[in-house]
Amino acid sequence: MENILSEKELKEFRKLLDDCTKVVISAHVGPDGDAIGSALGLANYLRRKGKQVTVAMPNIFPDFLKWMPGADSILIYTRQQEQAKAAVEQADLIIICDLNQPSRLNGLEEHVMASLAPRILIDHHLDPAFFCQLTVSRPEMCATGEVICHLLHQLGELNSISQDEAVCLYAAMMCDTGAFSFNSNRPVIFECISHLLARGIDKDQIYRNVFYTASEGRLRLQGYLLYVNMKVLHNYRTTIITLTNEERRRFNVKNGDTEGLVNIPLQILGMRLSIFINEDTEHPGTMKLSLRSVDDFPCDQMASRFFNGGGHKNASGGKLVCTMEEACETVKKAVETFSEMLK
Ligand code: 5GP
Ligand code: MN
Repeated sequence: MENILSEKELKEFRKLLDDCTKVVISAHVGPDGDAIGSALGLANYLRRKGKQVTVAMPNIFPDFLKWMPGADSILIYTRQQEQAKAAVEQADLIIICDLNQPSRLNGLEEHVMASLAPRILIDHHLDPAFFCQLTVSRPEMCATGEVICHLLHQLGELNSISQDEAVCLYAAMMCDTGAFSFNSNRPVIFECISHLLARGIDKDQIYRNVFYTASEGRLRLQGYLLYVNMKVLHNYRTTIITLTNEERRRFNVKNGDTEGLVNIPLQILGMRLSIFINEDTEHPGTMKLSLRSVDDFPCDQMASRFFNGGGHKNASGGKLVCTMEEACETVKKAVETFSEMLK
């Protein structure tokens, strides 16, 4: 395992944890498995240590993460605004997971930034903003869940965490690596997994909890998107899938039902880039883009240059306020601009 904090940082981290009584933990808007898993892993750990912990997310998270221990008590800012705001105001420590910019907290941002409580950032995205007393940023790590494993190791706690804590951290890492099929070649990842398995977790069950819980609608939608909507730009080794809210209604799509679909076209031999343009359910007229690539194609550069976004090299996203047709035009322009790197 790695010692990711210097002696000085470790001392500061311990002191922040020792001194707090009411903790708020949050993560990025559109929380994914790593956001929810790392936040809950940490929340379960701190609760076991006697802290009063509130997990507050900026907005809703997918149904396939609801089985995670502690998920039922997560506050959703867009639905429980007053409660979430009060929790942030009363907190004497705020821990922010899996984001690199405070703007990714959406509505929670202003309350988190207005609070006088110390803040800790725990993350693995590139280019972290420094808005916290302690910034633990490890872009080489596969997930924020992994960063937390190393922190627990450094606290001397990794081998005594509960099953609930281990389950959340494993799920976080599994979700951000496509069940360890990408961004997961560092040997120490499997050291983390080994420690988590030693806590008695059932990783096969966790896999089924996340990946084998599709609704009928999701499977039918998947068939439709691949058969009807997917465009393959062979010359650019790129695929584009679109999904409007009208289509979503037609397939009775549940929250989370489109998660992971962007990865599927990369199964086509030779494809390097997959782009999914998804109309925002909460803000019709806003198109959310998800990008996934293989090898060294820099999705994050394309997302920041063309889609007001960013992210990781092989997984990034952004958004455009426009029609679906206009979004497709912008995507085509982006692909042409990056054509040398795609061919
Ligand atoms: P997803 O496709 O799963 O929504 O997002 C993949 C990754 O892209 C996220 O983990 C995040 O790092 C990044 N990302 C997604 N949307 C945005 C965005 O609007 N702005 C920025 N800066 N990054 C984003
Ligand atoms: Mn993550």
